[in-house]
Amino acid sequence: MKVCIDPNAGVCTGVRRAIRLAEENLESGGEIYALGELIHNRREVERLAGLGLKTIEREQLTGSNAVPAKNILVRTHGIPPQQQDELQRGSMNVIDATCPVVKRLQKKVSEQHLAGCQIVIFGKEHHPEVSGLLGYCDNKAVLIQDEKDFQKIDRKRKTFLLSQTTMPQPAFLALAEKLKAIVKTLEIHDSTCKQINDRYEDIKAFSAQVNVVLFVGGKNSSNSKALYQACKSVNDNSYHVESAEDIDFSWFSQNDIVGVSGGASTPEWQLAKIKNYLESTALKGSSYNN
Ligand code: SF4
Repeated sequence: MKVCIDPNAGVCTGVRRAIRLAEENLESGGEIYALGELIHNRREVERLAGLGLKTIEREQLTGSNAVPAKNILVRTHGIPPQQQDELQRGSMNVIDATCPVVKRLQKKVSEQHLAGCQIVIFGKEHHPEVSGLLGYCDNKAVLIQDEKDFQKIDRKRKTFLLSQTTMPQPAFLALAEKLKAIVKTLEIHDSTCKQINDRYEDIKAFSAQVNVVLFVGGKNSSNSKALYQACKSVNDNSYHVESAEDIDFSWFSQNDIVGVSGGASTPEWQLAKIKNYLESTALKGSSYNN
């Protein structure tokens, strides 16, 4: 068996920055609470918890049993401005790890809303990034996922259409095209993340070159699920795993080339760990398919 790591895999710049901010602040000795799970990757969250990072939900910051958290780390998805003010009013030190790409989008939404536009977001209800964006337009945006939601849109109003950054670009563009035909004045802002968009073609090319793909990523991450589907679309022998424990050696044959890849929240150390595991277990002679 030969194992290779996808050269284009690894965390995106937003996640890398959030992890770095968490590590730096933990190193300086403070007690840090991430507001919600820092990234959609259980193993990385566990590693950071081992360094002292705690996770807290918004509800735990208020009320008679409120946790006396002083340093709050805002994750890449960002939060509504009202929540940010609330934290600062509560004299909390806010470490803002909102991805700069999301930050720019929040600003854009606010500007367009103040200019009187109807804001239409292609995204998932309750996704934290969407909740954050809604806060930048007084919760007045129309959320759409497919054509069925077009009936919620006021077709006569000047409209600004954008996307949750991690939604698939082809789906956004297809929907935008259809909306163009029915909304009188429509500005289309393709805010799908370029780093994610580029990954789809890269990961398909990588998957097509190997016999088996091990896609490493959180099963609760929509980006990971979509990238895994991209692997599967070109290589049926693709498996989504979170860690080495999920691997079944009957997936492989002795002479296979196994490609290890991952999502935007899968750090390089996890890919290397899977590679080492495969190589060391293969050396011990595991029960291959043949
Ligand atoms: S996927 Fe894109 S928008 Fe999301 S955190 Fe990464 S770089 Fe930022």
